[in-house]
Amino acid sequence: MAASESLDVLVVGGGPTGLALAAQLHAYGARFRIVDRNLDRARESRALAIQPRTLEALAPFGVTDTLVARGNPAVQLRMHLPGRRTVRLPLFDIGVADTPYPFLLFLSQAETESVVGSRLAEDGTAVERGTELVELTGEGGHVACRLRQRDGTEENVRARYVVGCDGARSTVRDQAGIGFDGYSYPQTFLLADLEVDGLERGAAHAYMTETGMLFFFPLGSPASWRMLAMRPSGTPGAKGPDVRRPGAENPVDIGQLQSIVDRYVSDRLLLRDPVWMTDFRIHNRGAKNYRSDRVFLAGDAAHIHSPAGAQGMNTGIQDALNLGWKLALVCRDAAPAALLDTYESERAPVGRNVLRFTDRAFIIATSRSPLLRLARTHLAPRLAPLVLRLPALRAAAFRR
Ligand SMILES: Cc1cc2nc3c(=O)[nH]c(=O)nc-3n(C[C@H](O)[C@H](O)[C@H](O)COP(=O)(O)OP(=O)(O)OC[C@H]3O[C@@H](n4cnc5c(N)ncnc54)[C@H](O)[C@@H]3O)c2cc1C
Repeated sequence: MAASESLDVLVVGGGPTGLALAAQLHAYGARFRIVDRNLDRARESRALAIQPRTLEALAPFGVTDTLVARGNPAVQLRMHLPGRRTVRLPLFDIGVADTPYPFLLFLSQAETESVVGSRLAEDGTAVERGTELVELTGEGGHVACRLRQRDGTEENVRARYVVGCDGARSTVRDQAGIGFDGYSYPQTFLLADLEVDGLERGAAHAYMTETGMLFFFPLGSPASWRMLAMRPSGTPGAKGPDVRRPGAENPVDIGQLQSIVDRYVSDRLLLRDPVWMTDFRIHNRGAKNYRSDRVFLAGDAAHIHSPAGAQGMNTGIQDALNLGWKLALVCRDAAPAALLDTYESERAPVGRNVLRFTDRAFIIATSRSPLLRLARTHLAPRLAPLVLRLPALRAAAFRR
């Protein structure tokens, strides 16, 4: 067991939330470490859109220009409706004048993590990989943390504060005894990063049918397209186990994906060269508290929900950027400890709103009720272009 070290903040988890938090702690002069149990950063694309506010909030760390240069800020959405009708909606020119980034930037999470992670490494504060937090104990004015390396070596660290950015199955949350209430949706979804012949480039495509929805989003890297679809009921694994990882119990193959596409799309689209295929279930859960004494939660550790509106990664990064400067100022005795109370009071309502909004969007997108099917295939496609044509409504919709 290595000797104890004393820190201002221990950041647990080097996903997008932990990386953003580390960037801000560094900028504000806190003494911190960031650890991640995995030996390498995630290579799967996962989240694929960055919102304007996230780009603004990351700008002070010198990463936003690189993100914009690597991503695609000019994506249109094509809604394909029954009867071969198509509606085109811009996801740029969002009618908002008070941001330098008035667009949804399409860039894979793997790229986003690479850009922010490289910036930290340049600053000498890289993620310590292969280092797992196994235990937390509150001890007076600090938290005693037990870290374990891959070779079994253990180390004790004393930190004034610990932030759990360690994802949906957060050890920090469990160790702090914070509940994570909510529910799982019964449907299983299929996701793949691959090549598609016959699909118009430069746009996201949504096929809205009576039986469900099928999406293709432009990725660029590691493949040209992200496909997302609900596994049709009655097919194997349609109500499968919780498998948010590749290669799990209901294996996905390209033949299955092609048959779903053939079922939803009347034009011939040919799928090929998959880089990542997985099936997963979606959950709607929120942490009972975002803080327990000296322990904080941020990102997926605090909230998980459906991907409607591409909000998971964005909400996590914005949690981190609300908390980082407050922790740094308190640790430098430049602000009273009460400042830290504002983290939960400011971010928990945001988390609850995201859970509510994504739940409604999920129900509309997947419901088999005749009324909601009608809303999906007829009402929404007619209303959306009208809303987006009027600048004030377009701005309000994007802000929401
Ligand atoms: C299949 C899939 C598709 C998705 N698609 C989208 C999308 O289209 N849009 C969107 O916005 N979001 C999407 N998401 C969600 C998005 O990926 C998450 O919201 C985002 O990754 C959350 O970031 P995070 O940093 O909070 O947690 P994570 O990215 O989960 O990172 C947590 C990190 O903590 C580490 N860790 C865990 N436990 C410990 C421990 N005890 N000690 C040390 N390290 C630990 C893990 O190794 C991991 O690196 C998707 C997720 C999945 C799985």
